[in-house]
Amino acid sequence: CGIVGYIGKRDVAPLLLEGLARLEYRGYDSAGMVVTSPKSSGLKMVKAKGRVRDLEARVPKRFTGTTGIAHTRWATHGAPSDVNSHPHLDPENKVAVVHNGIVDNAAELRAKLEADGVVFASETDTEVITHLVARSEAGTLEEKVREALKVIEGTYGIAVMHADFNDRIVVARNGSPVILGIGEKEMLVASDVAALIAHTRQVVTLDDGEMATLKADDFRTYTTSGATTTATPETVEWEA
Ligand code: GLU
Repeated sequence: CGIVGYIGKRDVAPLLLEGLARLEYRGYDSAGMVVTSPKSSGLKMVKAKGRVRDLEARVPKRFTGTTGIAHTRWATHGAPSDVNSHPHLDPENKVAVVHNGIVDNAAELRAKLEADGVVFASETDTEVITHLVARSEAGTLEEKVREALKVIEGTYGIAVMHADFNDRIVVARNGSPVILGIGEKEMLVASDVAALIAHTRQVVTLDDGEMATLKADDFRTYTTSGATTTATPETVEWEA
């Protein structure tokens, strides 16, 4: 349903919570986020069924970081619950995925992965994306995500983090909006411009079949087949 992501220098958890609150008007049943920082190798996660304020109440002390992705979920596959909330992590806690949309071939992909010994934590369609990225043997996070998307049928706006590539967030769009927010030494992403305008008015709207890599001081866009695309930021007019 709703996605917010940030990479920069600021303390990310409060910023993500504020962004999620700006997406509440769209409706949702649960929320969650993952954060990390260049200094830490691990991903920290918190999720909760219910409202953004229920998530906020659950954020542990020292949940610090300067990179993170967050989600409000409107369940399509699997009941609203803590564990079905996004982000979805792989068993080694390396890969985190938030997803808007529906993976149409999730049941088939899940059966294949389970036959290979993968143990799923949730009932969601989204979790197949996490395992596909985590199991990819490609050398970069961008290629891992591209490989995963090759076998996915359906709609998605996704944001992906990886503990071994923690200088970036990789996002992709097919049928579900993904908008980049271009800041000064910080980059944002959201499914709705309402979550960006407190931070920047410079935005790039991804097309279907397009991906982007966000780093704190840089971004680039390309297609799901890897060809570079041109992205000129536009200025959004918005009356607060
Ligand atoms: N299909 C996913 C799920 O049920 C994402 C739903 C959404 O867009 O929030 O978890």
